[in-house]
Amino acid sequence: MSLTTKLCMLLIALVSASVPLTVTLELGGRASAAQGSKLIALTFDDGPKPYVLMGTRTGKGVSSPSLLALLDQQNVKATFFVMGWRLSKNADAKCRQDDGGVCREAAEEEHRRGHEIENHTFGHGDFRLMVKRYGEEWVLNDIDKASTIIQSVTGVKPSYLRPPDWTIWPELEKKIEARGYRVMTRSRDVPPAMRDVDSEDYFCAGRSLAKCPKPSDYDYVLRSITQRERQGVEQHILVFHELPQSVELLSRLIPELKGRGYRFVTLRTYMSLIG
Ligand SMILES: [Zn+2]
Repeated sequence: MSLTTKLCMLLIALVSASVPLTVTLELGGRASAAQGSKLIALTFDDGPKPYVLMGTRTGKGVSSPSLLALLDQQNVKATFFVMGWRLSKNADAKCRQDDGGVCREAAEEEHRRGHEIENHTFGHGDFRLMVKRYGEEWVLNDIDKASTIIQSVTGVKPSYLRPPDWTIWPELEKKIEARGYRVMTRSRDVPPAMRDVDSEDYFCAGRSLAKCPKPSDYDYVLRSITQRERQGVEQHILVFHELPQSVELLSRLIPELKGRGYRFVTLRTYMSLIG
């Protein structure tokens, strides 16, 4: 047998051996498909706030760049954990006065542009305080009330709940999950890719400026991501708030992370990809 024939046979053997291997990898489940694929679910709490989303001014004259325009420009679809009360008709006057527009219309715009809207409760009351004051059933109803009003805007029932300030405990979590929600958490009990990464942006606005991460929140978020990457984690759920400072920060952070190979997806897509 000539050397060329031997090489040909070896090549054929290698090619045929690699076929089942490729098939196994492709069928190896969504989790393995996400491994090695750098993903970010960008999420925003506490809105909708028209002046931040549309880039206008609050009733007090505070201006903001437009978050929705930035996301469009960057071709990023995000996920908004909204407070249900802001979508009600009763909130229109307060939203106009404080946030420079009708909050429900801003939520409609989020949905129209392809972003996802999820549940951050109706009243944004601290769960421990609310359970103590009104009982557990009240808290569960507050969550459902938010879903009903969100569904009236999107046509879709929210699948995810982020408790205000992440206050939650196992018994309540089980009851919320029994109602069909997945509870978002910072807890170390869940794998890092499923855990919320807190940007701490709320410390960089208003009265808490002294607690704003140093040298900047931009550096802090990038540092958090780099630390996770060192542990082999390349999927991150980033939590921001609808704040003018965060829009400015993200106008630099999104291109930086894209440059590092990250793809931005909505939370539903993220979860379906990582399993
Ligand atoms: Zn909140």
